[in-house]
Amino acid sequence: MTDRYEVIIVGGGMVGATAACALGHGGIRVALLDAYNPERQWPPESVDIRVSALTKASQNILELLGAWQGMVQRGVCAYRDMRVFDARGGGELHFDCADTAFNELGHLVENRVIVAALWDVLATLPSATCLTPAFVSGLQLTEKGRQVKLSDGRILEAELVIAADGSESALRTMMGIKVTGWDYHQAGLVATVTTEKSHQATAWQCFLDEGPLAFLPLKNGQCSIVWTLKSATAKNYLALNDKDFLQVLEQASGGILGKLLTVGPRAAFPLRFQYADRYIDERFALIGDAAHVMHPLAGQGANAGFLDAAAIAELVIKTKQERRPLSSSRFLRNYERWRKGDNLVMMASMDVINKIYQMTSPPFVSMRSAGMNRINDTALLKTYLNHYAMGLREDLPKLAKGQACW
Ligand SMILES: Cc1cc2nc3c(=O)[nH]c(=O)nc-3n(C[C@H](O)[C@H](O)[C@H](O)COP(=O)(O)OP(=O)(O)OC[C@H]3O[C@@H](n4cnc5c(N)ncnc54)[C@H](O)[C@@H]3O)c2cc1C
Repeated sequence: MTDRYEVIIVGGGMVGATAACALGHGGIRVALLDAYNPERQWPPESVDIRVSALTKASQNILELLGAWQGMVQRGVCAYRDMRVFDARGGGELHFDCADTAFNELGHLVENRVIVAALWDVLATLPSATCLTPAFVSGLQLTEKGRQVKLSDGRILEAELVIAADGSESALRTMMGIKVTGWDYHQAGLVATVTTEKSHQATAWQCFLDEGPLAFLPLKNGQCSIVWTLKSATAKNYLALNDKDFLQVLEQASGGILGKLLTVGPRAAFPLRFQYADRYIDERFALIGDAAHVMHPLAGQGANAGFLDAAAIAELVIKTKQERRPLSSSRFLRNYERWRKGDNLVMMASMDVINKIYQMTSPPFVSMRSAGMNRINDTALLKTYLNHYAMGLREDLPKLAKGQACW
């Protein structure tokens, strides 16, 4: 017999698990499928090299879903200040939570912490089912809905399938949805480092010629670095021994956090700009990196995905409450209209910032730094940018505003 659900979500990463939790809270019969069972426990001293800066809007979503508490228990780090430097031109920007109504600008959290806390909540929701390992190998439209085929031969059915299977989304390809974009020929090198000076609950970002270098504060006093480099440089730096790597990193950092004492494992991720030409099809929607991939320089990719998840869940729950079928294309069109424009604006902003900071012509560099200093002295503009970066924008899904959608 085929297992039948109202909604199947493929991909149980941060974004898919968020959508599943929201639907589960709304009493929707939802199945969350992932090829792997996510890590739920790890040695207490270890740190995941994948870390995300979460906005206030994302925090609101995760709090309402009941995942935030589990994240706090495992460890989150609030950052209260953000300092941005232009290494070549000397411009500086300083964002301080004291200029907002909040006690912090955001939080740094290991990706595995977010996923584990969401999966813990899912286990408590009666209408949610988690299936792992479940590798989706086929997708088909039937008279009753969408049929999802797993590589082990199992077949599942749902009224709606949501793909949250990441930037290489196999489901997006199965649906014939094309992507537009380009390779940045840059990589994001990530690692955890111990610094001589305290990070002071501050996110430090220095724009260098090849791309920004960020030192992001962690709960245990260490920093997570995200260093955008040309792909070839990243490859060379991955091959260095720890001592030589720390030396080039310390030099690049300009000593903002003093001497760099230790570094853990390193990894580099190729960076690109990519968006799906359509977010929806019949009984089908894309969310998260499956729909859009942006430059990580302001740490907004997962935050955008959380908003996709909150938006689609709100529309599905409303459609069911109004006793309309999930085969209705109207709510899917609303979802696409709601999220695609917002994501494109964010992606384009990241793209422009990345390009602006790669320019090295002296007159342009002077103008750029003068512009940064001007923004720094203009309270209103700084407050606007601060709120935008914190995810506090117009037209947010209810969960992101701190309101339940069920
Ligand atoms: C260097 C770097 C730093 C970043 N920093 C930040 C940051 O600070 N803040 C921020 O908001 N964002 C950041 N991002 C972006 C963020 O990491 C991504 O946007 C986010 O991980 C996307 O989550 P997702 O759930 O959409 O996809 P993924 O995390 O890719 O999850 C996809 C899931 O789908 C599963 N899957 C795939 N195919 C199948 C299949 N066929 N069947 C079943 N399961 C399948 C996978 O196992 C996986 O669990 C950063 C990105 C990079 C590269």
